[in-house]
Amino acid sequence: MPDAQFHGYTRREAVGVVGAIVAWNFPLLLACWKLGPALASGCTVVLKPADETPLTALMLGKLALEAGYPPGVLNVVTGTGIEAGSALSHHPDVDKLTFTGSTEVGKLIGKAAMDTMTRVTLELGGKSPTIVLEDADIPTAAAGAANAIFFNQGQVCCAGSRLYVHKKHFDNVVADISSIAEEMTIGAGLNPNTQMGPLISAKQQQRVCNYIDQGRQNGATITTGGGAVDGPGFFVKPTVMVDVDQNSAVVQEEIFGPVLVAMPFDDIEEAVRIANDSQYGLGASIWSNNLSQVHRMIPRIKSGSVWVNCHTALDPALPFGGYKQSGLGREMGSDVIEHYTEVKSVLMSI
Ligand code: NAD
Repeated sequence: MPDAQFHGYTRREAVGVVGAIVAWNFPLLLACWKLGPALASGCTVVLKPADETPLTALMLGKLALEAGYPPGVLNVVTGTGIEAGSALSHHPDVDKLTFTGSTEVGKLIGKAAMDTMTRVTLELGGKSPTIVLEDADIPTAAAGAANAIFFNQGQVCCAGSRLYVHKKHFDNVVADISSIAEEMTIGAGLNPNTQMGPLISAKQQQRVCNYIDQGRQNGATITTGGGAVDGPGFFVKPTVMVDVDQNSAVVQEEIFGPVLVAMPFDDIEEAVRIANDSQYGLGASIWSNNLSQVHRMIPRIKSGSVWVNCHTALDPALPFGGYKQSGLGREMGSDVIEHYTEVKSVLMSI
């Protein structure tokens, strides 16, 4: 270092062209989680909506032009993942990839990004636990656990799809959730009285039903639901399975439908161990009135979000993202700006 006086500082600069690829389960919301920070940071965006849900993205692009965005700042490219998604993730002029979707496709995008050191954020799948402790308010916890899995027909990345309940309350909680499921109004998504609409596609309906059948064949007891609703539409009955093995596919794999697997636990040690026994780590909820106990548990739960006496509660001020195979990086919160900017160090001899 020369013997001189220096002025040093850092500046954040827009990363450049962002390729954003999103899933179908909340098409507009997932796109906006990426567009907000990317555009605010000064990036331009090429948005690739899911094959099944291009319309909200196209409308958003049209509204952006009407609102006065310069042409080329927000671009929407529709098409299949294999064609349009893959072309975008391998494109040499893309400086940053931000992806929301399955872990399987996320790995392909991550590998493509590494070839060129393209910056990358991955928001992937989950198998989030809902943990009901011995001292929880049981009716509240049961209602919360039902909502955690049945909201949006279970097509939620952080859905509470694994339920672990202290053995003292297990039967009561399962009975409560099963009766909530049985009373749900299943119907068209645009009907205001509907509590559970159809799944996104026949393919997704079949996939979810295959998991239910697999659970049944492996000895699970179905306390409610158990398959598709007879008749037209891609409806699946809200389903609860007990007598499942922690290592089985229905407990370890993301079903992405209204299917809950429930198991009892003996003590906190076991609850923490089985909650963490997953390749995923997106969210977890703890239901309890003993906040000291909860505070001691929070650092031991390997997930990007921990909710207490609530589930899938999101606040744009708080970062959201996954541990383990649930992803890389975070969306929302102030941290997100780092993902759309590069930091430049400047050192000036004065
Ligand atoms: P998906 O991975 O099949 O598709 C997601 C997007 O990737 C779509 O736009 C698709 O066209 C595109 N794509 C598919 N193959 C591609 C390829 N080879 N190259 C580039 N792009 C490709 O996921 P999905 O079925 O649409 O969505 C469900 C998944 O999304 C679930 O696993 C869910 O957990 C996850 N998800 C995660 C979050 C989160 O924030 N962590 C939020 C919502 C959904």
